Amino acid sequence: MQGLMQDRPLLISSLIEHANAFHPGAEIVSRTVEGPIHRCTYADIRRRAKQVANALTALGVRAGERIGTLAWNGFRHMELYFGVSGMGAVLHTINPRLFPEQIAYIVDHADDQYLFFDLTFAPLIARLAPQLKGVKGFVAMTDRAHMPAIDVPNLVCYEELVGEHTDDFDWPMLDENAASSLCYTSGTTGNPKGVLYSHRSTVLHSFAVCAADGIALSARDSALLVVPMFHVNAWGTPYAGAMSGAKLVMPGPNLDGKSVYELMRDERVTVALGVPTVWLMLFGHVEANSLDPRRELTLQRVVIGGSAAPRTMCEHFESRFGAFALHAWGMTETSPIGTVCNLLPKHVGLPLAGRLDVQKKQGRPLFGVELRITDDDGRRLPHDGVAFGHLMVRGPWIAASYFKSEGGDLLDADGFFDTGDVATIDPDGYMQITDRSKDVIKSGGEWISSIDIENAAIGHPAVGEAAVIGVAHEKWQERPLLVVVRKPGQDVSREELLHFLEGKVAKWWLPDDVQFVTELPHTATGKLQKIRLREMFRDYRLPAAAA
Ligand code: ADP
Repeated sequence: MQGLMQDRPLLISSLIEHANAFHPGAEIVSRTVEGPIHRCTYADIRRRAKQVANALTALGVRAGERIGTLAWNGFRHMELYFGVSGMGAVLHTINPRLFPEQIAYIVDHADDQYLFFDLTFAPLIARLAPQLKGVKGFVAMTDRAHMPAIDVPNLVCYEELVGEHTDDFDWPMLDENAASSLCYTSGTTGNPKGVLYSHRSTVLHSFAVCAADGIALSARDSALLVVPMFHVNAWGTPYAGAMSGAKLVMPGPNLDGKSVYELMRDERVTVALGVPTVWLMLFGHVEANSLDPRRELTLQRVVIGGSAAPRTMCEHFESRFGAFALHAWGMTETSPIGTVCNLLPKHVGLPLAGRLDVQKKQGRPLFGVELRITDDDGRRLPHDGVAFGHLMVRGPWIAASYFKSEGGDLLDADGFFDTGDVATIDPDGYMQITDRSKDVIKSGGEWISSIDIENAAIGHPAVGEAAVIGVAHEKWQERPLLVVVRKPGQDVSREELLHFLEGKVAKWWLPDDVQFVTELPHTATGKLQKIRLREMFRDYRLPAAAA
């Protein structure tokens, strides 16, 4: 027997319609590439998204076709989020930090019809345009006065394009499983692969972001999106913002500590989202200028993900900012939110140290996400917080395959996707990442977590950044090497660091050596690039004494 409820599709256009109906005056504040702070509302975004939809229709763009963007977080990008997907086309957000050759590859692979870009990327567009034969036009996201002087065929001015069209547009009643947006993984191995989200997966993911034990985004929030709209849809917050009516604050190209701090202060930000690197820059600014964030800011919680949030970072937000550090895990293939580290009743009232032991974990799955860990043969491992294995995930906002079937079917016999992460899951369901499966160190048949050692090393006051890689060892197969960037003006020796780590990680996990470098290699999404690091230390040999 079928239920007798209305069958309304879950569509991205319904999110902006809701925001327009019930939060029309809630603000979208953007720091622009052109300079000034720009302010508008959800009502404005909806109106201009409809103009975008009319403009694209006039350009001949049809449902399902891809529209590329190379843009920072800002109001025009937000208009494209709703205008492009709302009219049935697919918004392809491109990470400008990828190598130019990779960008050319994915624009071609995605078959982007038009490419919208922020002024910052005008030189990149000028350089790539001759290669991008399939792109019919390049739209500079600015007004006539700021048009870049680049020699590119079919260069269009965004404000003129949008201004030529009315906001009289009826959103089509699409199939909720229709594709809505496309994001490529960073492709640390091989070419980037496209993850194709649907309207349904996006709306369901937005509910999870807004849920109280998700990120609890609400109309009372002023949310600072430091996490980029060019990668995994800024963790889904533009959509969840429209669903909840939260004020959104967009930093544009300025992600430095000073700019981020000023936006937090001036826009009365209550929740901020970003990767650990941007928070380190924020801490640096606060320290260098002896600021008092507790007094000056209204920050209540900070969502940290993309790479592991060190315990010291969670503690720092709590003690210096009076803000709760909400650790979250996910990936391009998971839309991206998979787990969020919220507390259970038994943790409330714990002393800070005990609570941080929980907060440093990547968290529990939201409803809609199923997790399991397996060994190399696919056998399930216990959720005892000790056994670590391949992290497998299943759910309605998890990828089933990549765009154009690159890589074939992604799922195992039970429909689970192998994340490539290695993790433990404790009896309460808290998942903790110990490594990427490629980075785990195999010593004497046991696995050593590089992330655990890195997080412990970061706790030393003179350590700016730390990475641990496995190096070949005659007896143990592999042993950990700690590679450290010292903080400017600070000093610490190999011996001091090794001594500092004693008692913080298992004895047999202690690195065999420490090497100091001025810089560590990072990927386009700011993660440590261990492949490069291993190459850098290819000829390195561990000290004989450690053998
Ligand atoms: P890419 O770098 O290919 O774009 P994603 O942005 O999709 O990849 O990143 C996904 C990966 O980032 C995860 O598989 C995981 O290894 C890592 N990651 C994300 N969040 C966390 C976290 N909170 N702690 C540790 N690792 C994380």
